[in-house]
Amino acid sequence: MKPRPLEGQRAVVTGASSGIGRAIALAFAEAGAAVVVNHHSDAEAGEAVTKDILSMEGRAVSVGADVSRPRDVLKLFDAADAHFGGVDILVANAGAQADAPFLEMTLEDWRKVIDLDLTGAFLCAQEAARRFRRQGLEPNRSAALGKVLFVSSVHQRIPWAGRANYAAAKGGVKLLMESMAQELSGEKIRVNAIAPGAIKTPINAEAWDTPAAARKLLKLIPYGRIGEVEDIAASAVWLASDQADYVVGTTLFVDGGMSLYPSFADGG
Ligand code: NAD
Repeated sequence: MKPRPLEGQRAVVTGASSGIGRAIALAFAEAGAAVVVNHHSDAEAGEAVTKDILSMEGRAVSVGADVSRPRDVLKLFDAADAHFGGVDILVANAGAQADAPFLEMTLEDWRKVIDLDLTGAFLCAQEAARRFRRQGLEPNRSAALGKVLFVSSVHQRIPWAGRANYAAAKGGVKLLMESMAQELSGEKIRVNAIAPGAIKTPINAEAWDTPAAARKLLKLIPYGRIGEVEDIAASAVWLASDQADYVVGTTLFVDGGMSLYPSFADGG
């Protein structure tokens, strides 16, 4: 049997009906956590993830919620209370893009991405921290009072033409994470982020789903392969577990070296 570093813990994973969130929900369940599987528009996909977890004798419940709406966010944590007796881990993963050249970016494109990728992460993290505080420390469950893990992006560091809304949101997540960690780590709330590089999911299919697109993308990845959702899920399990108990306020780049400015590899 595989090691279960999240045995007995309870997690809320946002945007868990597809891509990275789905992989994190499955990996968390395999690691022993009970999971609130959040979906937005695709209830069937959320239910399917929950069914997969139940079929491996894990614990999971699907909850529909738009994480940019405070009332919906409460539903996620109320479900964790009702089904699992509380929450120990939040993975703020839900996100989307609405790309446009800067001069053509509408206020709607801007707000859509900021509301979901930044404000949604803030609302979930704030509610998680409130719940952690209310529950109190349970050392038999975890060394921390609670853990928050943001799924950011390499674009919290790398500017991205044609996606100013997305880069601004992810840059915001970086300082949201660090400010929150600075403020709350004294009470043992452990806050970190993962910055994925290019991972094969529906969000960026056009960047890897033809051989020509994949070749172009690989020029940006020194390690020579496009990332898989499991690469992110494995890092998330570790960061959320007590094995990472001394990791506080850090962004773990899981990007095959994308953030190393590969175009300078030959001297620039
Ligand atoms: P995805 O499109 O498969 O997943 C996005 C998830 O967010 C979906 O489950 C969707 O239902 C959910 N979502 C959308 N709007 C929502 C809302 N209002 N409320 C709740 N959930 C909502 O794409 P993904 O690649 O798995 O993206 C997951 C996260 O990873 C995002 O934050 C994204 O920015 C980040 N990321 C992805 C990559 C990549 O290469 N795939 C790279 C860096 C960062």
